[in-house]
Amino acid sequence: TQFNELGLAESVLRAVEAEGYTIPTPIQAEVIPAVLAGRDVLGTAQTGTGKTAAYVLPLLSRIADERRAPRPKTCTTLILAPTRELANQIVEAIRTYGRKIRPSVALVVGGVRPGPQIRQMAGGVDILVATPGRLEDHMSTGVIRLDGVANIILDEADQMMDMGFMPAIRRILQKVPADPQTILLSATMPRQIRALAQDFLNDPAEIAV
Ligand code: AMP
Repeated sequence: TQFNELGLAESVLRAVEAEGYTIPTPIQAEVIPAVLAGRDVLGTAQTGTGKTAAYVLPLLSRIADERRAPRPKTCTTLILAPTRELANQIVEAIRTYGRKIRPSVALVVGGVRPGPQIRQMAGGVDILVATPGRLEDHMSTGVIRLDGVANIILDEADQMMDMGFMPAIRRILQKVPADPQTILLSATMPRQIRALAQDFLNDPAEIAV
């Protein structure tokens, strides 16, 4: 499979080419078409498999397509990650692959002052990348509302669970209106992650690489 056979928007394909990638990794070849088709995804994938691009590329592609449409509808995406480091890498990937699309992105993580994050969020964003604890802080003060969230990605779900974030994740997911498209990625699939998928995913495409 080549990247240009997956149905990605032209502007996203050009950014991928600029990175020098021609062949999708196995997880990309499976996840990209499933996400573009609007399906939920339950993926078992380690770091280094290209998992970030597997969900960032189709989500950017969707944002690009919606902007071309006569009546654009904001597609707000929430990406949850266990650590500040991973959240930063995800934002970098969004900026790299989205350089033609220039989505508005906010980064909401702990360990830094909340003020700049609050300003970033004002007026809404296309994509919010967050760690669960700080996101809940902003939700409790009303700075962030999840009403408009249409896509959710849980990256490294098992690590978020190991850090004690499972109750926070469940509270966050409960606040999102009915039926967002949800992508759950985890290096391992322990019972609690399967249960999370059962409770919040809709007939997911199950992908393991
Ligand atoms: P990840 O698993 O998301 O942490 O990505 C691992 C690394 O693979 C990152 O440095 C990406 O830039 C790189 N990468 C992602 N997709 C591809 C691809 N299709 N071909 C070659 N490298 C890739």
